[in-house]
Amino acid sequence: MTTSPLLDLFTSTGALLEGHFKLTSGRHSNSYFQCAKVLQHPEHLSAICRAIAEHFAEKGVETVISPAIGGIVVGTEVGRQLGVKTIFAERKEGVMTIRRGFSVEPGERVLVIEDVITTGGSVLEVIRLIEAAGGVVVGVGSVVDRSNGRVRLADEQFSVLSMEVVSFTPEECPLCKKGVAIDAPGSRASHQQ
Ligand code: ZN
Repeated sequence: MTTSPLLDLFTSTGALLEGHFKLTSGRHSNSYFQCAKVLQHPEHLSAICRAIAEHFAEKGVETVISPAIGGIVVGTEVGRQLGVKTIFAERKEGVMTIRRGFSVEPGERVLVIEDVITTGGSVLEVIRLIEAAGGVVVGVGSVVDRSNGRVRLADEQFSVLSMEVVSFTPEECPLCKKGVAIDAPGSRASHQQ
């Protein structure tokens, strides 16, 4: 895992747990991440979004857009700190769309903000919407990159925390072999991985 000066915020709030976990996929992992656990605290939300906003401060961002739902809280705070229009995209019948009277104009410089990037699928769909409208994608910012930098979505890409998620089938799990008790936080959490 890449260290970050903000790493303490993730561990002290329980957003980043280390141990032995059963993920919603059924695989086992030595770490578990719930972004909302840190973002629920306004001072932490502000500090984390400041790192993102400062990274893109000189990029001429005119609009911040996020994929609903996870990205909205972060996108709104980054947009507030940059002092720019902030909108979101959402799925309607499975298709990512820009609704609610929101729009992207030709030439508009748009920053895409997400909470957690795993495969980057939602962000990629938002990028295609911006490009289809003739907008310019300034970059992609996120709180956490769970691909540890492998997923490349834009030339200018920034994450506060970059981490490698290691997981195993139950049969090959070294923690099971060691007899470490397992926790299944996804079974009682609303924000699952
Ligand atoms: Zn296990």
